[in-house]
Amino acid sequence: MSDQYHKILNIRELADSAFILEIERKGMRFEPGQHILLGKAGDIHHREYSIYSSVADDALEVLVKEVPDGEVSKVLRKLKPGDEVEVQGPFGFFTIEEEFMNNGSTFLFIASGTGISPFHSMVKSIPGLNYKLLHGIRYAEASFERDHYDTGRYVSCTSRDDQGDFKGRVTDYIKQADVDQNTHCFLCGNFEMIRDAMDLLEEKGIAQDHLHAEVYF
Ligand SMILES: Cc1cc2nc3c(=O)[nH]c(=O)nc-3n(C[C@H](O)[C@H](O)[C@H](O)COP(=O)(O)OP(=O)(O)OC[C@H]3O[C@@H](n4cnc5c(N)ncnc54)[C@H](O)[C@@H]3O)c2cc1C
Repeated sequence: MSDQYHKILNIRELADSAFILEIERKGMRFEPGQHILLGKAGDIHHREYSIYSSVADDALEVLVKEVPDGEVSKVLRKLKPGDEVEVQGPFGFFTIEEEFMNNGSTFLFIASGTGISPFHSMVKSIPGLNYKLLHGIRYAEASFERDHYDTGRYVSCTSRDDQGDFKGRVTDYIKQADVDQNTHCFLCGNFEMIRDAMDLLEEKGIAQDHLHAEVYF
């Protein structure tokens, strides 16, 4: 059996065809914001998934959305506790530099859909982080585990219902928001959202070295 084979310990079902796989960690060290390559054990197809869990958690968690006709997410969807997945990594540089973690810096996290995953890991891993998290979703039911975030810091932006904290896209929220020029902005999710949100943040005076992005698709 390969060292890269890890057992599924548990699965948490979420709304909007999303689920969390709790996977044996086997001592893997990672920085919050990094991702792994994941696939069913023995399968040649793998995809990138951000790590959802904190650096202190026993298990390694990923938040996966089952994509209609998706090659890998559909296979992951069918797994059961006790099955094995192949894990490679961690990879990536979508991380917070240590000097900014505890020096009173403010962070604006902007996610669409499952793009919330690296921010969950950051918030859970780094105590006292001064952040606001904008989560772009279609319906409020996709506010995945919103109770895990500190009160008042999570803002769901719903485009198709008015049950969220803000009615509209994350870009609509940014248009009407004051964003301090020293804010470190991290964006994660689909390309169009990231491009449009970055343009707006630049118009608001955020310098390029304060903009960090992870494009999922
Ligand atoms: C660095 C990185 C980190 C990622 N982290 C995550 C994560 O934490 N959770 C996650 O669910 N996905 C994540 N993704 C996307 C993931 O790697 C796969 O692309 C996704 O699961 C679809 O794979 P698939 O084989 O099922 O679909 P494929 O057969 O490869 O079809 C891909 C199509 O699915 C759509 N798609 C891809 N990802 C999503 C998504 N998340 N939501 C809606 N539609 C999508 C796109 O239209 C894309 O063209 C990440 C991607 C990158 C590059």
